[in-house]
Amino acid sequence: MNTQDVFVPGSTIGIIGGGQLGRMSAVAASKLGYHVHVLSPEFPSPATEVAASVTVGAYDDPAVLEDFASRCDVVTFEFENISAEGLALLERHRPVRPAGEILRISQDRITEKTRLSEIGVSLAPWHAVNGPEDLLGLETLGFPLILKTTRFGYDGKGQFRVPDAEALAALDNLPYPLVAEKMIDFERELSVMVVRALDGTVRCFDAVENRHRNGILDITLAPARVMPDIARQAQDMAARIAEALGLVGIMGVEMFHAADGSLMVNEIAPRPHNSGHWTMDACLVDQFEMHVRAVAGLPLPPARRHSDAVMHNLIGPEDMARVPAILVTDGASLHLYGKSEAREGRKMGHVNTIFPRGALPGELALEGLLPPR
Ligand code: ADP
Ligand code: MG
Repeated sequence: MNTQDVFVPGSTIGIIGGGQLGRMSAVAASKLGYHVHVLSPEFPSPATEVAASVTVGAYDDPAVLEDFASRCDVVTFEFENISAEGLALLERHRPVRPAGEILRISQDRITEKTRLSEIGVSLAPWHAVNGPEDLLGLETLGFPLILKTTRFGYDGKGQFRVPDAEALAALDNLPYPLVAEKMIDFERELSVMVVRALDGTVRCFDAVENRHRNGILDITLAPARVMPDIARQAQDMAARIAEALGLVGIMGVEMFHAADGSLMVNEIAPRPHNSGHWTMDACLVDQFEMHVRAVAGLPLPPARRHSDAVMHNLIGPEDMARVPAILVTDGASLHLYGKSEAREGRKMGHVNTIFPRGALPGELALEGLLPPR
């Protein structure tokens, strides 16, 4: 398998995963003239709705993966938890971009933090917690701290906040292995979408600011309202990780901008990312097209932002009820994912509101951008 292959428009890009990230990647791929083949255990799903063809089956079934690979020229993913064996199987058949090794690193918080430390970027102080015996040593990290499951966590799931030694002592029946991290008193949460091409070109979108609600991303402000040197430092950090990992494709890098001014990496996601959805309306070439270009081996344009943007996630039935009012809101670009059931906490869509550069609304005006909940 030649890992340097370029796939011209007309080729078939395989996407593993049927969710909204796959859906928006598929739309970007078809804009550039690619066929898209989706692997999804569920049918219909947000991505299968917009794909040329679909394999319906389990991510961990070798026969399914083999059939899927045989129908694609190059493979990428939006679903992150494909097994190491599954990734190896896919890589025997087709180029996988980003490489399976990068996905494997990001799947496990201990592997991820170990690799990021080797790369030399700063992280929140952390310890691996493999069993109850490791809890005793955590006082050295300081309180408050946070325990996270090493695998399968998303949207704040699998996390336990520990305010003090007493709460730590009271913990029982934890789902080991875990990582413990010192809670960072952050000024802001930032993220950078970084994309690296086959020829080594690295492009970073502007650093943005993320706000969470109930553990789920609520709002992204683009650009982040930080000093230019902090924004540049965030991009440099993301570029350094992408280069060190030999990334081909896009990756989201989540960071904390601590109260003392320092930047720390929280986690990486080697795929399009919710905090990059603002690019769909504020950049000529958005995160999904950048990703598709990199996966296909095409060149990358500069990641230029023509407008400022505020992205609001639409979560669960409560936000879906706002859609009629959003449809008549001036300046709001609505993206829905085609999910049939608006369950509590489920990401149903997002709205981008764009502004001329430098005209991002202030804190108070932010509240009134969309109709109230
Ligand atoms: P997930 O995989 O669920 O996104 P994260 O590690 O990104 O997990 O944690 C989710 C959110 O929890 C973060 O975006 C941040 O708001 C908060 N958080 C996580 N770790 C820390 C930490 N060490 N200090 C402060 N806040 C944290
Ligand atoms: Mg996160």
